[in-house]
Amino acid sequence: MLELQSITKRYRSKTALDDVSLLLEPGIWGLLGPNGAGKSTMINIIAGLLAQTSGAVLWDGVNIDSLGASYRAALGFLPQSAGLYDYFTARQYLRYMCALKGLYTKPGERKKRELHISQMLETVNLTADADRRTRTFSGGMKQRLGIAQALLGNPKLIILDEPTSGLDPQERVRLRNAVAALAGSRLIIWATHIVSDIETIAHRVIMLKDGKCIAVGSPAELASGMDGQVWSLTIPAEKTDLYRANYTLGNIIVSGSAAQLRIIHNEKPHPDAVSAEPGLEDLYLLRYEEVSK
Ligand code: ADP
Ligand code: MG
Repeated sequence: MLELQSITKRYRSKTALDDVSLLLEPGIWGLLGPNGAGKSTMINIIAGLLAQTSGAVLWDGVNIDSLGASYRAALGFLPQSAGLYDYFTARQYLRYMCALKGLYTKPGERKKRELHISQMLETVNLTADADRRTRTFSGGMKQRLGIAQALLGNPKLIILDEPTSGLDPQERVRLRNAVAALAGSRLIIWATHIVSDIETIAHRVIMLKDGKCIAVGSPAELASGMDGQVWSLTIPAEKTDLYRANYTLGNIIVSGSAAQLRIIHNEKPHPDAVSAEPGLEDLYLLRYEEVSK
């Protein structure tokens, strides 16, 4: 169990995290928010790489500052911009990361290490490419290798900071499925600004805005808070801008001269509007809308 107690982080005059308190039990947690919300700051503090200005991070009830190596052994981390060593093959890279993490370093553990590495490569679907140099890898393959690296040693806490950045839609889906299959008794934190990355796989979502935690709950709980505020309305396409100026809009489907709008508003926007099933994206659009309407 991971606990954040009143975490505040200031970079000179900028408050990047403002008194965030959270209790995270095992499962997949989506850390959602637009760029600048404070996601990486929170992740780097949890990873023990960045010192908070005030507050504490506890792992199973103990301050991580006093856990040291045993906390690092429990932790797998994929930073926002992970550099690989291009001249390594995938397998060599994982050997190197094992060495850095102090895993299977004793004499006689070589076989165990090789088996573990092969299993991790299999988990992220890189078995066929294990002995190719990573400089020939696509963005998605590099990210999946980054995940394999985070999984070495079977850590109880896995933190992924924007793992799908730069991936094409197929690679996104593959990565999502790979992570969903890992959940079990682990705590996985997935930071992203893309609702669809986490909507279907996260057990809990934390919404971060300007360094503050503005909502926590399961995707269904968060979406149901939008009941009665999401509408579907078909209008003449040329009126779209008028609606855009007055309402928060979700998807717009234009067919011929008509436009079907998804409107997020606390009242029925038009007598012909039909209530629609809310989703997490509707809440995201509403809460992060820059201009309040
Ligand atoms: P996110 O990961 O959600 O995009 P970050 O945690 O990277 O957000 O940044 C949160 C805020 O803190 C942003 O306004 C960012 O500009 C600021 N920030 C991040 N790192 C630093 C730094 N080293 N020095 C000053 N400001 C920073
Ligand atoms: Mg970030």
